Amino acid sequence: MGIIRELSPSVINQIAAGEVVERPASVVKELLENAIDAGADRIEIAVERGGKDLIRVVDNGKGIAPDDLPLAFRPHATSKLREADDLQRIATLGFRGEALAAIAEISKVCCESRTAEAETGFRLRIDGGRAGAVEPCSCPVGTIMEVRHLFFNTPVRRTFLKSDATEAGHVAEMVTRLALAHPSVHFTSRSSGKVVFDLPATTCLTDRIAALFGRELADQLIGVEHDVPGVGLRGFVSHPSHSRSSSKFQYLFLNGRYVRDRSLQHALAEAYRGLLMVGRYPVAFLNLEVPLDQVDVNVHPTKIEVRFREAHLIYSALYSAIKQAFLKTDLHAKLQTRV
Ligand code: ADP
Ligand code: MG
Repeated sequence: MGIIRELSPSVINQIAAGEVVERPASVVKELLENAIDAGADRIEIAVERGGKDLIRVVDNGKGIAPDDLPLAFRPHATSKLREADDLQRIATLGFRGEALAAIAEISKVCCESRTAEAETGFRLRIDGGRAGAVEPCSCPVGTIMEVRHLFFNTPVRRTFLKSDATEAGHVAEMVTRLALAHPSVHFTSRSSGKVVFDLPATTCLTDRIAALFGRELADQLIGVEHDVPGVGLRGFVSHPSHSRSSSKFQYLFLNGRYVRDRSLQHALAEAYRGLLMVGRYPVAFLNLEVPLDQVDVNVHPTKIEVRFREAHLIYSALYSAIKQAFLKTDLHAKLQTRV
C-alpha cells in the first residue's frame, strides 16, 4: 500500500495562499492591482486594525458579471490569460488567477460588483474558501471587495503578524507604490477611520510625488529620460543634497509594476558614486519600459522580482541615463565649484 496521496483542493489552496498572502498589505496589493486592471480611475481603500480585521477596496472599474463572480474566486481562473503563449506578453498586473482564490481561502470575503450593462449589482460571500450563492444587491458600477478576519483559519500565520500600526505601515507603503505607478488614478486610503492618503488624479508624476512625500522633495528632483532600442526610462532622482539614510525611497517600476532588483539598485548607487557620503542613498522614482518579451515577471507569485533577458543592457541604460541627467543639470560642475 503506497503512502503518497494527492492533496485535497482546500489544502492545495491554503499552501498557495501562504505564498501569495504574507500579511494584510499583500491582500491590499492584489486588490489594488485587480482594480487597476479593471480600468478603475477611482479607488478607495479602508483598513481596520492594520488590515487584520478588515480590508475594503472599492473601485469604479468595469465590474464582474454575475456568472463570472464564483469563477473569479476559483484557483487558476483568470480573464487575463488564455494560452501559454500569452505569458510572453503580459500587459496586465495580474495573470495567474490565484490571488482571489488564495485570499478567500484564508479570510471571510464579501464581494459586490456591477458591470455597466447590468441593472443591479451581485453579491457573493466566501467564508474560508466556501462560497455561498450569488445574490442581487444594489451597488454602483465597479467592485467592492471586503476581506475580513485574515488568517482566521490559519492561526499560526496570524501570530506572525506585527502590531496594528506596523501592518498599517505596510499597507500605506503598498498604496504608495501603486499610487506612484498610476498617478492618473485617484486613490484615497483610510486606516481605522483616519485618512492616510487622498491623492487626486494627476497627469504629472511630480504632483503625485509631492502629494506623497512633500513639495520640498518634489521640487528638487532631477528629471531622467533615456531611450535606447529595447529600453525606455523615465522618472526622477534626487539631488545629492537630498539623499536619505535608507534605500527605502528608491521606487523602481518595470512597465508600471513595482519591482525590486539588486542589479538596478547597484546601477543607481554607482551613478551617485563620489556624490554621496557613505550610508546615504539617493531617492528615485524611475519607470523602465522594456518590451514585454524581454522580461519574465513570472518568477514569483508576488511578482516583485523579475528577470531580464538582457540584464546588462538595462543596467547600463539606467546608469548612463542618470549620469546624463547629472550632466544636463550641470551637477558635477556645480559640485566641483563648491569645493
Ligand atoms: P488575476 O488578477 O491574476 O486574473 P485574480 O484572482 O486576482 O486573478 O482575479 C480573478 C479574476 O477576477 C480576474 O481575472 C478578473 O477577471 C476578476 N476580477 C478580480 N477583481 C476584479 C475587479 N476589482 N474588477 C473587475 N474584475 C475583477
Ligand atoms: Mg489579480
